[in-house]
Amino acid sequence: MRKYIEKEQMESELAKVFCNQCGKELVVEDGIVKEGCFSIDYEFDYFSNKDGYIYSLDLCEECFDKWIKGFDTQPKISETKEFL
Ligand SMILES: [Zn+2]
Repeated sequence: MRKYIEKEQMESELAKVFCNQCGKELVVEDGIVKEGCFSIDYEFDYFSNKDGYIYSLDLCEECFDKWIKGFDTQPKISETKEFL
């Protein structure tokens, strides 16, 4: 869950991020999340029962780890080729 500070000319800066699972406030400095955060905005498509809805959520790294531990099949994990 993200909260923004409204700025001039319709701009906004990320102010706070809370884990949707445990409620922990993540570290945000100058509009950037400074710790592990799984963030997603997922739009369900026509073939789902949630067509037309976008789900947005943030998980702290600890809650992300707990979540995927419960998976029957673990996700594929790859290394990034380069860091930006
Ligand atoms: Zn959490």
